Parts: sequence; structure tokens; C-alpha cells
Amino acid sequence: MNEARVAELIRELLTEIGEDPDREGLKRTPERVAKTWAFLSAGYHMDVDRVINGAVFEAHVNNMIIARDIEVYSLCEHHMLPFFGRCHIGYIAQDRVLGISKLARIAEIFARRLQIQERLTTQIAEGLQEAVKPRGVGVVVEAFHLCLAMRGVEKQNAYMTTSEVLGDFRDDRATREEFLQLLRRRHAR
Ligand SMILES: [Zn+2]
Repeated sequence: MNEARVAELIRELLTEIGEDPDREGLKRTPERVAKTWAFLSAGYHMDVDRVINGAVFEAHVNNMIIARDIEVYSLCEHHMLPFFGRCHIGYIAQDRVLGISKLARIAEIFARRLQIQERLTTQIAEGLQEAVKPRGVGVVVEAFHLCLAMRGVEKQNAYMTTSEVLGDFRDDRATREEFLQLLRRRHAR
């Protein structure tokens, strides 16, 4: 991303919305916004293999592994406004497990792009499926959409829940039920 060029565009945007980009408070705003966008769109330059970087371990485990309440922050592609919330990821290991922090990193790869929540959910599931080759993957994302809340449309529906299930989570009802049941349970602490 060409930060100087983006800063220029933000300066023009400020003028167009009726601001004075030269006033004290806005002086460094275009540069700051450009830097922020470089960070928020970093997912375009990341891929699952590179992020996981060998953190898949051989292990004789074949049970369900779940990481709950992973924070996700993304941007809706229709309004370029944030949607954010929590992501829950489960998979059934098949002699390979992934370092737990890497689950959050996988979510990040796809969240730091312009998204719709449905696609974000699917991409996280497929990314994990491809990287770890488990028997199945389940992903649930619960998020609050500022484009709905801030613009005053459908305020009550600004929360959305999406899910994606692959493999055993899709084909086996009991597995899917177990996953959803575990998500409902309270934290130990
Ligand atoms: Zn939107």
C-alpha cells in the first residue's frame, strides 16, 4: 500500500466532507489514517501457511478442541465501517494439532480485509481445514455492525451471528450438537 498516496486521498476526503485539512487537529490525520489502513488491510498480504509457520504438531489426539471468545475486528465491504465481536473455533484433531494462539492468527488474516461476516466465517473455517486437515471444523462469529448502528438503520439488528461447519461438524449431528453445547457453557474462571 502506498501510504503517501492514501494520505493524499484522505486529505481530499476531508475537504469534500466540509473540513479544513490544514486546521491544527487534522494536520497529521491523513498520515495517521493511512498508517491505520495499512494495518487494517494487512490481511491481503498474509496467508495461512506463513502465519502458522510450522506450528502444526503431530499428536495422538482425536478429540474436539475449541477456542472461544477470540476477539475479531473487521471492516464491512459495503460501508468500510467496522464490525467486531467474538469468534469461536472448534476442530476435531486427526493426529495433528495447532498451537492455540494460531487460531486467533488465522481469524486475523481474514478479518483484516474488507469483508462480509458470512465470508469471514467461511474463510476462517476453510483456512483451518486446509492447514491442519482435521476431521472437521466449526466456526461461529458473533459481531456488531457499526454500519447498521451508526447510520440508524436496523439498529436492533446490528448484531449478527454466522456459522460455518465442515467435515464431521457438517455431516454428524451429534458432533455439531456437542460443539454448540460447549459454546454455551460458562467459562471455568
Ligand atoms: Zn456495512
